[in-house]
Amino acid sequence: MIFATSPESVHVRAPGKINVFLGVGERHEDGYHALATVFQAVSLYEDVIARHADDFSITVSGVDDADAVPLDDRNLAMRAAKLLATAAEYRGGVALEIRKNVPVAGGMGGGSADAAAALVACDALWGTGFSLARLHELAARLGADVPFALHGGTAVGTGRGDQLNPALARGRFDWVLVTSDEGLSTPVVYGRLDALRDEEGALADDPPLSLEVPIPVLQALRSGDPHQLAETLFNDLQAAAVYERPDLADTIRLGVRAGALHGIVSGSGPTVALLCAGPEIAQEVQSILRESGLDPLHVHGPVPGARIIS
Ligand code: ATP
Repeated sequence: MIFATSPESVHVRAPGKINVFLGVGERHEDGYHALATVFQAVSLYEDVIARHADDFSITVSGVDDADAVPLDDRNLAMRAAKLLATAAEYRGGVALEIRKNVPVAGGMGGGSADAAAALVACDALWGTGFSLARLHELAARLGADVPFALHGGTAVGTGRGDQLNPALARGRFDWVLVTSDEGLSTPVVYGRLDALRDEEGALADDPPLSLEVPIPVLQALRSGDPHQLAETLFNDLQAAAVYERPDLADTIRLGVRAGALHGIVSGSGPTVALLCAGPEIAQEVQSILRESGLDPLHVHGPVPGARIIS
């Protein structure tokens, strides 16, 4: 394969996500759950800078606990770079610098954003020239949330969340995110959901759930009206996340009392996403929650997916 002359470094920015709606079906034999979800990319970004190198390496900044993010093949960005190298028959390596803003293990797909950014960065650095469709295919092999981080915006995800269809979302939605110092493990939360369902006998005798995103969710997104969207926010993983972290329910209550329209646990948590009627109210909610000793961030969505900055 012939590669065009390439830049010295490539800087890509990719967004974290919120699941505005997350329906979880029964566990498949391979351990995965069927999902029907609506992702929204929000203005909290991961930055990945790729530089030429003979080998593959990663440095990470922006995390309090250096051990929280693996620097080897367990890192999704490393896996993304190697997968692209194999697919493109590229013989060199890359030095990836990851500047994290999305909380680690926060249910906001930070690792997936790093992987999507690494795919786009290495593609540009190496002059691979893969189409977006080809990058999407590689992204889906890396993890269910990676294709969404590539595309951004607002999208419906089915299957494992990786079969994406863009959803029309008008305007801008203001969110206050409450992050936690301590992450929640995604497999632990799904395991808890299974256990809770077993206890309750839920789903056991039911026909497979019709895993579709309810029409009112899509209508609310199309309307651009946060009041409408607030009424349709839903997360099947919330009870399991709250079981593991009961304080999350308090955070949602506090956020609503401070002026948010509604709140949900984002993905598998523990980040809580509070939907606000507009930017001013979001700022107010943010400062009230900060006074309560929490760590709130004001973000907005939808925003674009992984993009080359320079
Ligand atoms: P998921 O995408 O599984 O829902 P999440 O969004 O809650 O996860 P992430 O920050 O993406 O959380 O990472 C979850 C785990 O994946 C981390 O605890 C870490 O061990 C591992 N990991 C692998 N690559 C990365 C990365 N680039 N950034 C952060 N964590 C990573």
